[in-house]
Amino acid sequence: MKALILQQPSPFPRLTVADLPIPSLGDSDALVQVKACGLCHHDLLVMNGALRRGVQIPLIPGHEVAGVVIAVGPNVTTLRPGDHVVPLLTDACGRCHFCARNLERLCPQGQAIGHGMKGGMAQLLAVRENTLVKIPKEIPWPQASLLACPIGVAIKAVENAQIQQDETVLVTGASGGLGAHLIQLASLRSARVLAVTSDESKTPALEALGASDVIPTGELHFSEIVLALTEDRGANVALDTVGSPLFPQTLRAIAPNGRLILLGEVARAKAELPLPEIIFRELQISGSVGATRHHVEQAAQLVAQGKIVPTISYTLPWTQWKSALQLIQQRRHVGRVVLEFTQP
Ligand SMILES: [Zn+2]
Ligand SMILES: [Zn+2]
Repeated sequence: MKALILQQPSPFPRLTVADLPIPSLGDSDALVQVKACGLCHHDLLVMNGALRRGVQIPLIPGHEVAGVVIAVGPNVTTLRPGDHVVPLLTDACGRCHFCARNLERLCPQGQAIGHGMKGGMAQLLAVRENTLVKIPKEIPWPQASLLACPIGVAIKAVENAQIQQDETVLVTGASGGLGAHLIQLASLRSARVLAVTSDESKTPALEALGASDVIPTGELHFSEIVLALTEDRGANVALDTVGSPLFPQTLRAIAPNGRLILLGEVARAKAELPLPEIIFRELQISGSVGATRHHVEQAAQLVAQGKIVPTISYTLPWTQWKSALQLIQQRRHVGRVVLEFTQP
């Protein structure tokens, strides 16, 4: 099988196309013919060396995978060849007490796909049966590749935020893969969505996704604009995909009794917590990462029903991976750039 291999992480990542043997199949594994794989910000951090912990080099990157089952091990009972599937983000044992509580990410035997084990930028991927989620066949492959990350991840964060109808929800990093789907999910809950972006030219696209107002991170502190738009109350919920660079402003933009859900940290830095402000404004701050089977199934349902439309700016054949990386580095996209895989 052909695969993209990361030989050496660097600011100018060296990926090579390699011809590898067909992955060996364990008794409880399924072999997936990859049809599409999204390019996530996480992949870029692994490729440029910013994320190193647990990364297995040489690595086949990619965790945003959709494909069709073509073979199963003798112990597999819930899948058969022809099933359309997406993997969860971690290939886990399925038996330990973490797996039993849908916390696959914490499984001692768990490996993050495209990070601690071979990922989806390849023609084939072998994972455990319990890692795969069956999806409706009518979802097109590029759209399906986004069901676990970023859509399932966004669903989990929105669930944590307990957004109520008519609340005001702030989304930072609005044009990214998480941001684009957080906007859709929050407006699906009839919230008023304020989208924060560093690129004002993306305003029409963000409005089309459901943003009521688009706020640029320009000269004026965006928290001032949020307060101006909410009669000085602030947003009830902030879904933050940016982290430390915007943190003081994000915190300031939240209404008393508001909730801040942290989903991303782009600078890998620290932020200061003004404790009296958190106490006296009774703010709740929590982190959210990954997605469970339940969230991926919900993503598949919402997409199949047309309630959420996976936001993809470009779909390219996998052989054009260099152009795909360039598009991302030039920040020309909203949502995701997806690679499509063809078989020999
Ligand atoms: Zn991802
Ligand atoms: Zn486990």
